[in-house]
Amino acid sequence: MRLIIVSNRLPLNGVQKEGKLKFEQSAGGLVSGLSAYLDLMKSTSTQDIEYVWIGWPGITVQDKMQTDVKRVLKDLNASPVFLSAEAMDKFYLGFCNKIIWPLFHYFPSYTDYDKDYWHQYREVNKIFRDAVLEVIQPGDVIWVHDYHLMLLPGLLREELPHTPIGFFLHIPFPSYELYRLLPSEWGQEILHGLLGANLIGFHTHEYAQYFLRSVLRILGYKHKLGQILAQDHAVKVETFPMGIDYERYHSNPASSGFGQNMKELEQLLDGFKAVLSVDRLDYSKGISNRLQGYKLFLENNPQWCEQVVLLMIVVPSRVGVKHYQQMKRQIDELVGEINGRFGTLNWTPIIYQYKFLPLNALLAMYRQSDVALITPLRDGMNLIAKEYVAARLDQTGVLILSEMAGAAKELGEALIINPNNLEAIAGALQQALTMPEAEQKKRNEVMQQQLKRYDVVRWSGDFIQELLQVQKGQSQTLPLDRHQQTLHTFFHQADKRLLLLDYDGTLVPFTDSPDQAKPDKELLDLLQNLTETNTEVVIISGRDRAILETWLGSLNITLVAEHGAWLKRPGEPWSLRKPLVNTWKRNLMPILEMYADRLPGSFIEEKEFSLAWHFRQANPELSAACARELMDELVAFTSNINIHILQGNKVIEIRNSEVTKGSTGLYLALKDNYDIILAIGDDTTDEDLFAVLALEHSWPGVLPPKTFTIRVGTDKSQASYFLPDYMEVRKMLQGLTSETAQLKTIQESTSDGR
Ligand code: UDP
Repeated sequence: MRLIIVSNRLPLNGVQKEGKLKFEQSAGGLVSGLSAYLDLMKSTSTQDIEYVWIGWPGITVQDKMQTDVKRVLKDLNASPVFLSAEAMDKFYLGFCNKIIWPLFHYFPSYTDYDKDYWHQYREVNKIFRDAVLEVIQPGDVIWVHDYHLMLLPGLLREELPHTPIGFFLHIPFPSYELYRLLPSEWGQEILHGLLGANLIGFHTHEYAQYFLRSVLRILGYKHKLGQILAQDHAVKVETFPMGIDYERYHSNPASSGFGQNMKELEQLLDGFKAVLSVDRLDYSKGISNRLQGYKLFLENNPQWCEQVVLLMIVVPSRVGVKHYQQMKRQIDELVGEINGRFGTLNWTPIIYQYKFLPLNALLAMYRQSDVALITPLRDGMNLIAKEYVAARLDQTGVLILSEMAGAAKELGEALIINPNNLEAIAGALQQALTMPEAEQKKRNEVMQQQLKRYDVVRWSGDFIQELLQVQKGQSQTLPLDRHQQTLHTFFHQADKRLLLLDYDGTLVPFTDSPDQAKPDKELLDLLQNLTETNTEVVIISGRDRAILETWLGSLNITLVAEHGAWLKRPGEPWSLRKPLVNTWKRNLMPILEMYADRLPGSFIEEKEFSLAWHFRQANPELSAACARELMDELVAFTSNINIHILQGNKVIEIRNSEVTKGSTGLYLALKDNYDIILAIGDDTTDEDLFAVLALEHSWPGVLPPKTFTIRVGTDKSQASYFLPDYMEVRKMLQGLTSETAQLKTIQESTSDGR
């Protein structure tokens, strides 16, 4: 297996050495995690595992140098994507950092919806697509990273329909209300882009839920346990909280520089308690709030003056963006104000450094600080929090962490605060600085165990395993035409046959109004003929029992109404499959009525155990938006009752979840010793039936040896085969009856000795 990792930046730093451009491996968490995972796989698997990393090399490379750079990087398992300075400016500083970053971090007022940025974003994503296509080989697996490349999975899917593609978002995904602020075409294209992947990973369950909700509201795709059926493939949406390279922070680095760093810090902090604050310069990190909280702490607790220092590291970032420059000024001023107001000749309350620290220096800071104060206003994960906890060899130290950081979901033993509550920050500082050592150790032990168990190797491994799993589980629905002969053979060899047929869209076309879809003579004859070939014919429909009886009651067939709630065998009365309640209809009716009033042409159909809101005749654009909104409202409203909401073909149905076409189909299938079962349907409700019949593979001997499931239409399905429309279904059934009738005649004449 070869893993193609694609991220905006290669994990390499270009450096000039003796007049030559050289590249060194940069030691980010993702790189070390993936390398460790790949090493582990190599040592424990017989499979040969390789990787190639595709991304921008971190510098603009002149055309004439590009071939050389490519050659050099090949030895480092990297393949560069060359981008001009102008492209980087509009793509990275523009679209990524002036639109997506602020919006996804809940700073909508910082966005600048410049359409040139959008065009450049699309262009750069296409350049990345071409770069992947240049290196891709059969059997490769692709893993795309982060918000810079959200269109890439979709662009790749168009070219590589069968390649496993994973996507991981390292920043938060915002709530629908925020996401919809993106101009709608951009928002739609980005969601489609992401859905090109087979697996989409987020740091927290909430981000995954927000994404699923945006997909539902904007594209109209529902999900089932995080699985979306996109146009031609299934997409799994899951949570993978990114871990750290635990041992890297929990052991001492080999380099001698580390000892020196530790000694210098020890001297500097002698006699003081140290509170650590480390971030990239970013408005999402809540650095000003932190400073205000520290100021309030000093005001409220004068006894701590000259006893504590705040070690504040701010790493320069995105220096070209206006809001970052403003923020830098604001921080400088606040630090100056606090140091000026509280500082003395012997004591500086804040030791402030505006620079990047290499691992040695950073690790020394983690080891020497009694408290880590991390207060982002919004943060996808926040690795600093995890690294600080891991670095505490004796398990002392207190982590104060904002509830707005993804990491807060895992590090519950930290002191969790709301970063907008300055009193809470000041209070947490007081609590942390006076916390008994035993309690510190108790809290840290739990967090360290968690970080050790779910480290970055496990994180990458879980993601890749899941990606391969999802890809493997993609069902392959085949066109029936090439397999008709097999079906015919098995059908004719069988003594007892069960035919489970959906009605609307399967045997008759959709009509403007449901009561127009009356069976024609051809269909009635066909069904009649089928019953005469030793076949039990069942119409298994979402229709109510009255209409089924009126239209089909004269035939010698079994009728199933309301998706399995009611059953009627030939010559017998209707029976309820299970005791069901329908009191929920009373509560939901007003909601449906509101939508029926709002959307001209739509109407409600009330059945005994279900409600359906039909919108076939309504304005398609308006109805699509209304349907998404209604689905969303119903899902929220019905989360604690036993009902199921289904979006069918121009209809939203609400019904009891205790009976489905699947459970009723299985009940019928097990009633007799059938040799073959053939199930045909065109809608979401039929998928339950297909899924149940697929159990034949895992439960051999329980169901008949031969089951054929056929979906009408080309939507993604769990059925084994598909047919294009109801006319082809009729043709196929016609073929089965006439051949069976011929065979019957031959058999009868042979046994008569004629
Ligand atoms: N980091 C570093 N030197 C510094 C500051 C930070 O190496 O001076 C590293 C830190 O170890 C962590 C990463 O930068 O792994 C920051 O990740 P985080 O998720 O906390 O924030 P981000 O910058 O990705 O928003």
